[in-house]
Amino acid sequence: MTTVAVGHQTLFNVDLSKPWSQQQVLGHNRWHPDIPAVASVSPGTTFRMECKDWTDGQIQNNDSANDVRDIDLSIPHVLSGPIAVDGAEPGDVLVVDILDMGPFPGPNTEWGYTGIFAKTNGGGFLTDRFPDAHKAIWDLQGVFATSRHLPDVRFVGIQHPGLIGTAPSADLLAKWNKREADLIATDPNRVPPLALAPLENSAVMGSLQGESYKRAAQEGARTVPPREHGGNCDIKNLTKGSRAYLPVYVKGGNLSMGDLHFSQGDGEITFCGAVEMAGFIDLHVDVIKDGVNKYKMTNPIFRTSPLEPRYTNFLVFEGISVDEQGKQHYMDAHIAYKNACMNAIEYLQTCGYTAEQAYMILGAAPVEGRISGIVDIPNACCTVYLPTEIFQRDVEPMRYSVSRQTQVATAR
Ligand code: ZN
Repeated sequence: MTTVAVGHQTLFNVDLSKPWSQQQVLGHNRWHPDIPAVASVSPGTTFRMECKDWTDGQIQNNDSANDVRDIDLSIPHVLSGPIAVDGAEPGDVLVVDILDMGPFPGPNTEWGYTGIFAKTNGGGFLTDRFPDAHKAIWDLQGVFATSRHLPDVRFVGIQHPGLIGTAPSADLLAKWNKREADLIATDPNRVPPLALAPLENSAVMGSLQGESYKRAAQEGARTVPPREHGGNCDIKNLTKGSRAYLPVYVKGGNLSMGDLHFSQGDGEITFCGAVEMAGFIDLHVDVIKDGVNKYKMTNPIFRTSPLEPRYTNFLVFEGISVDEQGKQHYMDAHIAYKNACMNAIEYLQTCGYTAEQAYMILGAAPVEGRISGIVDIPNACCTVYLPTEIFQRDVEPMRYSVSRQTQVATAR
């Protein structure tokens, strides 16, 4: 373990040609308090972390979605770290500034992908409507993303770490495992599953070895959900210039991150809905002593960045809490957001996109999702805001208005 006092150096390197279990310094892919820190830093330090994409390089830059269909989901998310911060104690708050990030520069690394996961292997928000695997590859050029699989779409990405968090204490880990096991037990054979239990197979637990590796691998929490420590929050606005306040549960805090996104729509709805990439992230850390008590924190607090694409024109699709069978649900925001997304997908098909293309655009582009109304019984009203400036074709409803059609006919 190296101690770094000042400066701006890379504390975690990755080799993109090697799997996660064969890296020179091992990161991890489960959450556990016993995973040793790979380095420690003083509060006030700036440093760089390198990250592989969340799947450990299982998705290739090609035109087949077979890799998405056949993905081994026991491996993700591969996480870089942990980094210990000197003096951080349980009950403190780790202040993490995201200073910069991006894909690794170079002709073979400036690309990303969006996947629709098969219902039988991962699933997604609209998996009943989209049970089969699909994929789109994105070319990343400076701040812009374009895709040969999604014509006439070009947008500015809001890059962010999909996943950043501190290590859980043994008590907190036990609490997670208990409550998630209770949920799984309500419908243990569900496809896709309700939650993911700890899984020793494919577990990489840093430098732990032997018996301590085995115990930690059997107990370690999976990385899919966000939890009290942060984790896989997938907050698209947590971009460079933003700040995360993360509760500390173990000595040093033990900060880890990964799942870098070039862009993402609110909800990351296709499950692998972001523009997923490998890359680097530059961080600055500080500590607030006794911050959890001071600020009454149960979950992390984030401060957004002043950096955002300047999109001003949105088409807004509404959804209410009535399901496909026409059954009324009481204030169910999950159903309402599904309907808002389905309405946007239906609409985009009138603009020449397939349903799968529309689904991936909603997952990857800087789409805003909002709970617009949550008090007007019995319907929650959720909305999805689609920026029309990202399209290089006319997607406005007015293209079919009577006066526009008349003008077109007259001009002819
Ligand atoms: Zn991701």
